[in-house]
Amino acid sequence: MSQPASQSSQPSASSGSRLETESVASAKMPTRSLKDHSLPALREHFHESGIPRYRANQIAVWMYRRSVDDVAAMTDLPVALREQIGAAWRSRALEVDRLQRSVDGACKLALRAGDGAILEAVLIPEERRQTLCLSTQVGCPLACSFCATGALGFTRNLSTAEIIDQVCRAREVLEEGEEITNLVFMGMGEPLLNLPNVLEAIRILIDPKAFAMAPRRITVSTSGVVPKIRPLLEVAPINLAVSLHATTDAVRDVLVPLNQRFPIAKLLDTLRSDDLIHRRRPVFFEYTLMDGINDSDDDARRLARLVHGIPCKINVIPMNPHADSEHRAPPPERADRFTAILHEAGLRITLRKNRGMDIDAACGQLAAREAR
Ligand code: SAH
Ligand code: SF4
Repeated sequence: MSQPASQSSQPSASSGSRLETESVASAKMPTRSLKDHSLPALREHFHESGIPRYRANQIAVWMYRRSVDDVAAMTDLPVALREQIGAAWRSRALEVDRLQRSVDGACKLALRAGDGAILEAVLIPEERRQTLCLSTQVGCPLACSFCATGALGFTRNLSTAEIIDQVCRAREVLEEGEEITNLVFMGMGEPLLNLPNVLEAIRILIDPKAFAMAPRRITVSTSGVVPKIRPLLEVAPINLAVSLHATTDAVRDVLVPLNQRFPIAKLLDTLRSDDLIHRRRPVFFEYTLMDGINDSDDDARRLARLVHGIPCKINVIPMNPHADSEHRAPPPERADRFTAILHEAGLRITLRKNRGMDIDAACGQLAAREAR
């Protein structure tokens, strides 16, 4: 692979950013985070502390609409209340550690949490969209054989505030007039293994008083944690993406070890059940094509049979190479033949373009390691 030049930059006040990070971690900082709670929950927390509930709405407008985190600057709150809230609650969970821009416009943000953990989010500009790919865990415990995040092992779940702050920090990187139009939970980690925090983040994202995003602009991707799929979809009419990647249990057991607990038939039966089929939103199946592993004509035919009866679209993603996996993408003719068979079977498919490969920002390449 050629090595196109990528720009790598520290945030403008790089040393300042480190200092802020240290202060986030300092023992004197409040431990409660304003962004950890949906608005109804925050209103109740305020009420319990003797603060009028409606103050939570005002704070949400500052944090989520006006991108202001500093409670002292929230000028429609009385000064004494700003001091009370500022002393008891934190409003920032992440600071930018490093920004990398790809030659194709994708922008990877390495973000540092209060405990020093590093996680990554990726902004992907398209003609009419600006998609942000979010992380939900530091590392991932599911160890899929082709995924750089899986090779990291698992450190911890992200808090709701850390999920939401990825959106806040990414917004600050955009040009004037640009906005994030779509969110995909396809970064580091398995969202359904951190479901309570992911659900609370979605509630904040879709709340008209907070980010006011349309649920159809949010997609959560899972490798198939079957019992958590329904609880996820109950929160709002968001999109579900399912990482399938194989058409037999023998192959999927190796690529996605979670398959040993929730095999293909069990996963697809769940997606085929009445209540899910009638959601009126297709399932997006993700199928990472790996040379000689899952890319045969038989695989394509089996895939078409397997998803029969499930309203769906199939995203075929050529394997993004990285140092932790020996798998490679098949030659382009093989990918074309594979997608042609699916097409002939009447399936809706997209062959996904890889974005941000020069900065290791493409699907499955996120592998930020904690800075020492
Ligand atoms: N844990 C979730 C979401 C994060 S991974 C899941 O597995 O669905 C996002 C997508 O990238 C998944 O479909 C995943 O299988 C895919 N992926 C992982 N490694 C990849 C690689 N090296 N090349 C292409 N896609 C990859
Ligand atoms: Fe985890 Fe998804 Fe990577 Fe599998 S593909 S290791 S579930 S992040």
